[in-house]
Amino acid sequence: MIEVNGLAKNYGTIQALDDVDFRIAQGEIVGLLGPNGAGKTTLIKILTGYLHPDRGTITVNGFDVLDQTIEVQRQIGYLPENAPLYPELTVQSYLQMMAELHQIEEEQQVEAILEAAHATGLYDRLTQRIGTLSKGYRQRVGIAQAIMHKPALLIFDEPTVGLDPTQIVEVRSLIRALAQHSTIIFSTHILAEVEALCDRALILLNGALRADSVIKELRGASHVMLVLKSDVPNLKPVLARTPAIGTVEKTASDNRGIHYRIDGENPLELSAVVYQIAKDQDWPVLELYNEVATLESTFNSLALAA
Ligand code: ATP
Repeated sequence: MIEVNGLAKNYGTIQALDDVDFRIAQGEIVGLLGPNGAGKTTLIKILTGYLHPDRGTITVNGFDVLDQTIEVQRQIGYLPENAPLYPELTVQSYLQMMAELHQIEEEQQVEAILEAAHATGLYDRLTQRIGTLSKGYRQRVGIAQAIMHKPALLIFDEPTVGLDPTQIVEVRSLIRALAQHSTIIFSTHILAEVEALCDRALILLNGALRADSVIKELRGASHVMLVLKSDVPNLKPVLARTPAIGTVEKTASDNRGIHYRIDGENPLELSAVVYQIAKDQDWPVLELYNEVATLESTFNSLALAA
């Protein structure tokens, strides 16, 4: 669905994107995660054809974003970070205006407006002026205009920013419902949002793609920690004899003991395997436990390493 290769963008001396590559398949819901200034909006503006990159290629549904911008924009529903809405217009007249902009055939416009209003829970608000809606409902109007031409790809820039907790839950459940019919990319700096909504996260830090992972992998990565009272010289070769055990790394040596981090294919079984070896070898074990990485700890360690 989307192929991005070697994408780079500078604003003067600021490097907003640095050699970014990724692919997104049809039907995926992908979170573009990164702190303020990471390059999320720049990437989204380039993907949607609103900004020209300095280098790199992007295709959406087989169309080249740089050479076939209009075709690409027809495939995309885009909710910008600060969607321009017109407070004096009613929801209906705004959607009517957007239907024209999306070049929906005149005889299909009423149906398109009603369908989009229905999908976003705006059916009862069609005659209300946008300026009198709550921020959550205004965001729905932005989403309604993004979906009304039935795009194959939806791109939302920070869709829940500035909303209260109830509105956040509502907009997230709306995005989840839309994911049944479209590929979705949305940017956020909120980890919980990615965990709540996505199959996959692209993590951007300082303009570089630092991780491209399935959420389950990011969250589920875990290992065994073994803490010994004193060190055992042959520990690594002894553990290496067991196929279930992967890498073994000494992570600390202090007055609380000698700490080893042990990885393997199945961490739950791994602790039982390590326990048996330690018992057989009569190692001076102080502690043995499974440490499960959260998405947050993975993100923080990437940020620290950046
Ligand atoms: P936020 O979450 O704060 O919106 P972001 O991840 O979307 O951040 P971008 O808006 O893409 O990040 O910005 C990436 C970098 O490029 C930042 O350092 C920003 O200050 C800089 N930048 C963005 N737009 C411009 C511009 N028009 N001129 C100069 N620098 C810019």
